[in-house]
Order: sequence, then structure tokens, then C-alpha cells
Amino acid sequence: MTLNLNALHPASTAPAAGTDAAGQPHAPTYAGVLSFMRRPYTRDLIGVDVAVSGIPLDLATTFRPGTRFGPAGMRAASVQLAELGAFPWGVDPFDHLNVVDYGDCWFDAHNPLGIRDAIIAHAREILATGTRMLTLGGDHYITYPLLVAHAEKYGKPLSLIHFDAHCDTWPDDNPDSLNHGTMFYRAIREGLIDPARSVQIGIRTWNDDFMGVRILDAPWVHCNGTQATIDEVLSIVGDAPTYLTFDIDCLDPAFAPGTGTPVAGGLSSAQALEIVRALGAVNLVGADVVEVSPPYDHSDVTALAAAHLAADMLCLMRNQKLQRHQRM
Ligand code: MN
Ligand code: MN
Repeated sequence: MTLNLNALHPASTAPAAGTDAAGQPHAPTYAGVLSFMRRPYTRDLIGVDVAVSGIPLDLATTFRPGTRFGPAGMRAASVQLAELGAFPWGVDPFDHLNVVDYGDCWFDAHNPLGIRDAIIAHAREILATGTRMLTLGGDHYITYPLLVAHAEKYGKPLSLIHFDAHCDTWPDDNPDSLNHGTMFYRAIREGLIDPARSVQIGIRTWNDDFMGVRILDAPWVHCNGTQATIDEVLSIVGDAPTYLTFDIDCLDPAFAPGTGTPVAGGLSSAQALEIVRALGAVNLVGADVVEVSPPYDHSDVTALAAAHLAADMLCLMRNQKLQRHQRM
């Protein structure tokens, strides 16, 4: 059961004395309710632009577990980012974008065969209201049911911008398989995403068949630089409705040790932030940050990188909302 602070402090009215702009009680960065960036915890989506929610799943990993603690880890790490204006944006991301923390998706961890549909139902409930989603994983399997719901809402196929050490397109024809390395094989086969207009960044594991997705592997990014990466990504996805998924193991284990399947030779957090911040022209319909495993983290370094990436995704969504309004 999530704590409904919104019942006490509705986001739509002026904040009461002793509360911040989101209606949360004033608290130092190390205290208080650890919602994502101190947004109100609520399931009331009236007038809400983006619902941040967690999917605390770690049953689909092939190596180290612990991502069930990922949403809580990213929320705790995000609180520090809510203290000041967003850098380098120089704005309050919530001045024009109404964001709430929707809490976590409920599923029965003891009934693995029900998890896929529970996540689809969770996403459908949010998307049906016209609210966009920023989802905190959870292992990367969660992106498959999220893509099912997003393709229903925004039309298929979607384009995919996918940051990862792994392509996650290894073959798997078992429809009940709960596997964090095969979701995009299935998503491509089912027409949820268009491989010709999709791109994977930071890859450094082998697959005999990358299924036609453009691969900007980690050596390519290191050799060509972030600006060339940005240019490639923008030209591949164009103006197609696009889902953005960030597996934190795209980062080198030096920057993200707290993850299930770390691989050496990855991007730095600075490189990844620079690329994500430059995606303002993308027609973004949804996003997630996955594979943060706090039990394997050190000094919250992984959770902090992930929270920062998620916060920048909200800044992208804020700017895109303003651009949509300016065109109208
Ligand atoms: Mn992955
Ligand atoms: Mn990965």
C-alpha cells in the first residue's frame, strides 16, 4: 500500500505552509518521504503529465538478483536532485510538467506466470488516462510488458532507443519465459518495435543475430564520441514515436557496479548523461531506467547515476510538452 500524501496535499492547489512546491512536508535531503524527486505519492492522475512508478522485479535476471530494491534505491538517490534546479537545464522540471510518484506495480512474486500480465495491466491503467510513464526497474524484463502497453496506446511498431551492455535479442520462443536477455527478440518478432528505426548504444556482448537493429557498440561510442552518437541516434529514430529504455549496465562497472550483469568497457555516466540530454528532438512516448541492484551497489553510486538519468528524462519530457504547446 502506498502512502497517499496527495490526499493531504493535492498537487493541484497551492502548497500549504510548511510544504514544498510539490506539497510535500519540508525535509532535509536525508529525511522525509522518499518519493521520486519528492513528488506527491498518489494514484490520482487527473491533470498529471507523467507518472513515475516502480516495478520491483528481479526474477528474470540471468546472474545477480537484487533489482527488486531498484525503485526504492533510485527514489532515495533522487531526493538530492530535487533540492536544486536541474543542471544543466537551469529550470525547475516541474514548473510546466505535473509529475507524481505512482508507487510500485503490484504483482505476485510467487506466481511468476502472472507477472507479465500484472505489469501490462499496471501500464494500461496509467496510459489510459493520457498520462505518460517513467518507470523504475526492476530487471530489464519489465520493458517487454511495458512495450506491449505502449504499442497499444501509441501504435506499433514503436522505435526503440536502448542503452545497454547487452542487446537483449537472444532467441527465446517460449512465450512464458521470464528472461531479461530476450525481451527485444520477442518485441521485434511481435512487431512492437521496428528494428530499422531502433538503435542500441553501449553494446559489448555478442549475439550472432542483432535482428537488424543499428548497434552503436561501446567501442564505437568511445572511438566516435558522444556528438556522433547523438547524431546517429537522432537520424535513426527520426520523428517516430519512440520508447527510451536505459539498462544501467550500459555504464561501465566503475560507474554502475550495482547491477545484475556488469560488463567491463562501458560508457561513463558523463557520456550517457550527455547523450540522453541531447534527445530533445525525439518523439518520446515513454521511458524506463532498469537493472539497478542496490545490494551490489557501493555508496549508492549506481542508484545516483540512474536517478540522474531518470531526472534528465523528466527534463526532456518537460521541454517536449512546452514544444507541443508552442506548436498548437
Ligand atoms: Mn538489458
Ligand atoms: Mn544489460
